[in-house]
Amino acid sequence: MMGRPVLVLSQNTKRESGRKVQISNINAAKNIADIIRTCLGPRAMMKMLLDPMGGIVMTNDGNAILREIQVQHPAAKTMIEISRTQDEEVGDGTTSVIILAGEMLSVAEHFLEQQIHPTVVISAYRQALDDMLNILNEISTPVDPNDRDMMLKIIKSAINTKALSHWSSMACNIALDAVRTVELEENGRKEIDIKKYAKVEKVPGGVIEDSCVLKGVMLNKDVTHPSMRRLIKNPRIVLLDCSLEYKKGESQTDIEITKEEDFSRILKMEEEYIQHICEDIIRLKPDLVFTEKGISDLAQHYLIKANITAIRRVRKTDNNRIGRACGARIASRTDELREEDVGTGAGLFEVKKIGDEYFTFVTECKDPKACTILLRGPCKEILAEVERNLQDAMQVCRNVLLEPCLLPGGGAVEMAVSHRLMEKSRALTVVEQWPYRAVAQALEVIPRTLIQNCGASTIRVLTSLRAKHTQEGNASWGVNGETGTLADMTELGVCEPLAVKAQTYKTAVEAAILLLRIDAIVSGHKKKGEEKTGGGQGAE
Ligand code: ADP
Ligand code: MG
Repeated sequence: MMGRPVLVLSQNTKRESGRKVQISNINAAKNIADIIRTCLGPRAMMKMLLDPMGGIVMTNDGNAILREIQVQHPAAKTMIEISRTQDEEVGDGTTSVIILAGEMLSVAEHFLEQQIHPTVVISAYRQALDDMLNILNEISTPVDPNDRDMMLKIIKSAINTKALSHWSSMACNIALDAVRTVELEENGRKEIDIKKYAKVEKVPGGVIEDSCVLKGVMLNKDVTHPSMRRLIKNPRIVLLDCSLEYKKGESQTDIEITKEEDFSRILKMEEEYIQHICEDIIRLKPDLVFTEKGISDLAQHYLIKANITAIRRVRKTDNNRIGRACGARIASRTDELREEDVGTGAGLFEVKKIGDEYFTFVTECKDPKACTILLRGPCKEILAEVERNLQDAMQVCRNVLLEPCLLPGGGAVEMAVSHRLMEKSRALTVVEQWPYRAVAQALEVIPRTLIQNCGASTIRVLTSLRAKHTQEGNASWGVNGETGTLADMTELGVCEPLAVKAQTYKTAVEAAILLLRIDAIVSGHKKKGEEKTGGGQGAE
């Protein structure tokens, strides 16, 4: 009986709150988009963020900024989430996706105010998204990924919006080399796993120009014992993920020792075990042993006697990379070690001191399928930003290698897609036409923001840009992001991979749809005294 009046009450209030919630979601999304707006394009401003621990982050990367800010509103949280999705999927376009999603929502506000039902808007958005993706496929141009100059140009156009532009040609070379190194073709499928196999190691000190891609890997480790060799040419490498220590019993085990002999027997067993596993290794005559676990003093003794250098407590990921770089296979038991497991692809093993830390290098590999990118620079903050930019560059490179199709940047593709959507909209019913055209209009936010960020006159430039697209039908006219004037993007050399653009549109529209679908926010935190009514609404 108690529940009934509550239900009726909330039904009465529902329509009100539905509209209110939608409007407040839209506003939250717009606010997030406004924060990010000035970070788009080559004239982007940087943001300086303070984290709760007092550290600072300086960046103009959309995702990096949103990761640091704290928001309360659930819709704002969703916006932040989509930037992260974009980053994980394609690693670029994180700023664009937020701006676009914000605009898609903001144009929908108008329809909600006119009492058009959200489902109508949503279905028109869906239709528009499908058409947008088809248009992108139609207007993209294929490229040859083996054309090094072309690849460098593409990467360059992706990262010259970022802080490291003054040494960008070097960054592009680094990114291209690194990605080409980890590229692997298996059963006709290309696999490029940057996160796993191209590791960026930042070592403060030196100048940025000292950064390089190693033909192999580097790790922040030293040999376990000072008398082991620190420089080996053409090493034979064994990788393990087991420990070279005596396996101690479970913590519950008690051993009762009553006689002196028993004690020495236990010690003897331990000694024999260690000797046994070391002999398994020594049998293969390696020069170098890496293990993910520990190495006991006794084991070190046997290894030194056999002139083997050992490095312990290597991270799993580092071990994998060493394996791919020198062709070794990680063994989990010493008695399973075989000749095929030994890596012989590396030309040089070396332990070097940089700053006051020791680093292990396994380099000059014949055919490395993993690499370390060594970044040098004046301070931690700059290195962190340089790394983010480099990650962007590598992602672009990966996207182009996986799907070698290009689109013109600088808002040109948005204008072209927008123009074609407008044409297609004529075939739709009157009610659907509005939201469908609104999507087409929303796309113009990218060129508009690029113009705004250079301080040029938005209306004038945008109008002439629109005219270029409707009259000439040339899809490559866009905005020169440095000057805010019209430019042919193929001449300017600003381009973007198809994969990034498609993902940007997909994520932005899907996010807008998701937020429009919501017509109530039910909080899990109940205020005291509101327990009953709150519960009733939640159940509804
Ligand atoms: P995101 O995080 O979305 O990648 P960016 O700051 O990298 O944001 O900006 C990307 C946008 O800037 C793209 O639309 C791209 O086409 C455009 N852009 C990049 N360089 C230029 C340029 N020189 N002139 C005009 N537009 C550019
Ligand atoms: Mg970018």
